[in-house]
Amino acid sequence: MIRPVMLTFAAALATVAGSLSACSPRSSTVEQAAPPTSTSTPTPTAPAPTPAPAAAQATETAMDPLLAQWKDIPVDPVTGMVTLTEVQWQQRLTPEQYRILRQKGTERPYSGKLWNTGGPGEYRCAACGNLLFTGDDKFISECGWPAFDKAIKGSIRYETDRSHGMIRTETMCNRCGGHLGHVFEDGPTQTGTRYCINSLSIVYIPGTTSSKGMETEAIVEAPPKK
Ligand SMILES: [Zn+2]
Repeated sequence: MIRPVMLTFAAALATVAGSLSACSPRSSTVEQAAPPTSTSTPTPTAPAPTPAPAAAQATETAMDPLLAQWKDIPVDPVTGMVTLTEVQWQQRLTPEQYRILRQKGTERPYSGKLWNTGGPGEYRCAACGNLLFTGDDKFISECGWPAFDKAIKGSIRYETDRSHGMIRTETMCNRCGGHLGHVFEDGPTQTGTRYCINSLSIVYIPGTTSSKGMETEAIVEAPPKK
């Protein structure tokens, strides 16, 4: 859970942290999955009826199963919203992802893979693949969670969260309703906004996608309920 004291501390550090753009100590874990190597090692003992194509498929990027999973996700043709049931979500997500994305949990600070990483590319909803942020807008907040100063316009749903004795703005994927984290107005960049997102709620896909030229938003307060 996010405590106000920690956030204040994080805000104080954020200005310094914002300059720490060379933040790739743990990015290798992400990049390991990127380029497929063409070294296909034969298995001498195993009788393989269909060796070559299967092996080639297996060495494709680790993102491929994820992309395929997202592609198959059922969507309401009218609303554009994902229509999976909770049982189906439970089957698709890891227990920890389910706890965070579907039960509004929070990962421990500094425990996620993405809190102190950088680099260009896309950050998509780990549940449905919705494009939420780009690497252009990520900064290291030192609060222990990945932070962004703006989001792709329309990708996020905002709701007032009054749990844990605080009033915060919860952020959710606008396509599947998955819980992402919260958004605060203590960001160190020009927008003054800090999207504080669980690493497990998003997936980083390295690439050249840039938010420059795309419509973005930096919303702090949830719109009033109708
Ligand atoms: Zn989603």
